[in-house]
Amino acid sequence: METDQQLHDAWDREHLWHPYTSTINPLPTYKVVSAKGVRLRLADGKEIIDGMSSWWCMIHGYGNERLNAAAAAQMSKMSHVMFGGITHQPAIDLGRELLKVAPSTMHNIFYADSGSVAVEVAMKMAVQASISVSGSHKKTNFATIRSGYHGDTWNAMSVCDPVTGMHGAFGSALPIRFFVPQPKSRFGGEWDDSDIEPLRKLLAQKSDEIAALILEPVVQGAGGMWFYHTEYLRQARELCDRYGILLIFDEIATGFWRTGRFFATEHTDVQPDIMCIGKGLTAGYLTMSAVLTTQAVADTISNGEAGVLMHGPTFMANPLSCAIALESIKMLTEKPMGQIVRDIEETMRVELAPASSLPGVSDVRVLGSIGVVEVSRSVDVGKFQRECVRRGVWIRPFGRNVYIMPPYVISREDLVFLCRQLIEIVSDEANY
Ligand SMILES: *Cc1c(COP(=O)(O)O)cnc(C)c1O
Repeated sequence: METDQQLHDAWDREHLWHPYTSTINPLPTYKVVSAKGVRLRLADGKEIIDGMSSWWCMIHGYGNERLNAAAAAQMSKMSHVMFGGITHQPAIDLGRELLKVAPSTMHNIFYADSGSVAVEVAMKMAVQASISVSGSHKKTNFATIRSGYHGDTWNAMSVCDPVTGMHGAFGSALPIRFFVPQPKSRFGGEWDDSDIEPLRKLLAQKSDEIAALILEPVVQGAGGMWFYHTEYLRQARELCDRYGILLIFDEIATGFWRTGRFFATEHTDVQPDIMCIGKGLTAGYLTMSAVLTTQAVADTISNGEAGVLMHGPTFMANPLSCAIALESIKMLTEKPMGQIVRDIEETMRVELAPASSLPGVSDVRVLGSIGVVEVSRSVDVGKFQRECVRRGVWIRPFGRNVYIMPPYVISREDLVFLCRQLIEIVSDEANY
């Protein structure tokens, strides 16, 4: 059992909303007082290994000295200044680094506040560009595949999977998008050409209504934790080109080496027209995202009716966030990240493999530093996490997927421990 200090305190329970949580019957919450490396320290002194990288973002671990120093140095100059009519070195330096690591066609950068806002901005870019090119206000809808996740704001939510997403709760308030089934062909497996048929049909029939196709390349994150075949992306690119539809890649979860490449799109030779990044961008220090696009899209928007991109958040290009992101990218380019992620992948493949023979487990898959154990029914998160904390690890399952994506600084020993605890928890169905 948890001690009183580990458990939520009464005030929190009464007044603070946690993600996707009932105010009447909230899930337990654990109080973290500090964190270092891959470990969260709870109020009673117990330490647990974070298998989630705080939802994908804490890529270099907690309390990293270089990132702390970069933050302190920037803070002593200025934490923030408006970006309207003003520019600053951190925004410029970060932008230069981003263009070095991004797909070669990326040319213009829009800094935004969070992943969801990046998706909103990408969708606005697509609509403005589409209206500018077609002269029609009809070619403004979106297509996507099932089991996607693109964020919680209005338009981002509208392209999330209609079942695991939140469409049910919002009903007719949400704009209606075009959905096709997700590709069934696995990443690295055999390609089944029938996977592309639904998209081929949809775009052939509805291209005069669709501004863009939005996809998480290779790895679908929170909507299904599914790794799919790169041929889908190649053919999707061809179809988009044929029908004058923009291709948006949401790399918010997959970016910054999570899948074993700097960006997941590098598993293919496909380049998007618009790309969203976030989560790992600031290594988990602050909320920030960016939308990158081609010069063609940027210029098309600027030649359109409005003459400008109609977006401009208060905290755009926040200098503190930029300075931290810049330092994080320097660290990523200095370290042998390919090898580091391959080692994590190899350890997870070996350590998670035994899960596939457990009753109740329907699939085990690993790609880059993402490990997924899919079980055959929805996990009771409260129960599962109680067992995690008791055993000294932190994992937050979603639906039927129990998954880990640890910080890249995790030691082999800690990773083995994390995987083994996961397996032991899943091996007793009473735990979930
Ligand atoms: C998390 C996520 C988002 C939303 O990012 P927030 O920062 O939570 O708004 C969008 N797309 C993908 C693929 C994500 O994983």
